[in-house]
Amino acid sequence: MHEEEPESLMGRRCWVEISLEALRCNAAFARDLAGVGGQIMGVVKADAYGHGLEDTARALADFADFLGVANVAEALRIRKAGVGKPRVFILGTALEWERPVVLEHDFVAAVSTVAEAEAYDFLAASAGKRLKVHLALDTGMGRLGFLDTAEILSQWRHWAHLEIEGVATHLPSADEKPDATGAQLKHFADIVRLLRESGLGLRHVHAANSAGLLGFPHDACTLFRPGLMLYGISPLPEWQSRLQPTLKWMTRVTLVRDLPPGHGVSYGGDFATSREPYTRVATLAVGYGDGYPRQLSGQGADVLVDGRRCPVLGRVTMDQIMIDVTDLGDAVKPGAEVVLLGGDISATELARKAGTIPWHILTGITRRVPRITE
Ligand SMILES: *Cc1c(COP(=O)(O)O)cnc(C)c1O
Repeated sequence: MHEEEPESLMGRRCWVEISLEALRCNAAFARDLAGVGGQIMGVVKADAYGHGLEDTARALADFADFLGVANVAEALRIRKAGVGKPRVFILGTALEWERPVVLEHDFVAAVSTVAEAEAYDFLAASAGKRLKVHLALDTGMGRLGFLDTAEILSQWRHWAHLEIEGVATHLPSADEKPDATGAQLKHFADIVRLLRESGLGLRHVHAANSAGLLGFPHDACTLFRPGLMLYGISPLPEWQSRLQPTLKWMTRVTLVRDLPPGHGVSYGGDFATSREPYTRVATLAVGYGDGYPRQLSGQGADVLVDGRRCPVLGRVTMDQIMIDVTDLGDAVKPGAEVVLLGGDISATELARKAGTIPWHILTGITRRVPRITE
């Protein structure tokens, strides 16, 4: 009997193809933008925006000085994968029991409070180590970071076992509000100057995400933290043509049937066929259980069959969606490949129709969908 693993069966039903070559091109472009002496932190949190953490981290190792992850669990996955060269920076705040992991593996933590700095200092002292950390500054994001520079100025000399090698902030609206972002970067530069005057070395100064790197001058910064643009999507439309798509999401037609006019399609009966003498409806092997957003229901989303756009009909269900293939004649058969994301259909387009952002579309592709890396 012919035996196949579930993963390989799934891999021929609904799958994601990832081009590491495109990823490397985008990383090289980010490096160019960072300029001479500028460094890159490749942001690979959330399974590298759905691309697979280990493979992506390996592909970026030659381009990135740091890899940015959300937490120590992701950081450990990079270590376990044997990705040696870039240092691993933890973008989120480590919980108390995670701090020893930071220390043991020389991950780089972003420190937001005096209490946190003291806790790391104590741990480092106990281990007879000096721990390199970056101070996070809250210049408007309201998520983490010191709020008061005076606290840092009055305290940092007490942290004898910390080497404060970097300072960071985050831009909440670099893709939406250029004026406010410019002012925020200027404010950050002022604080950095003040910290340096007080004697802090600060080899690494960083603020910019993709939109910050693409859209703003880099005066104050030495290190940049692109995420989305590495995955071929520009948060600023004017840069889109400079990036290469890295991810293609595919599925297959499972059934083709001709429905008479007035036949309901999908839950709730929001949609009914109206074409004469029939609507040729293809059922596809993808649904919100795979991360195809349910919010696309009734929003005019398309997929590509044979390079032609076909509209999604009615609501997205958990495992299946229906599309109109009437205009493709007899060409569409069960088993035919369908492009959900790729070619002419970008994550930006799907996000707009689903009322969300491209980051959410990419990270929303669930684990049921195997990633095939080239
Ligand atoms: C996610 C993240 C980034 C990367 O943002 P993109 O918009 O995807 O480039 C950079 N910095 C921090 C702190 C982040 O959380």
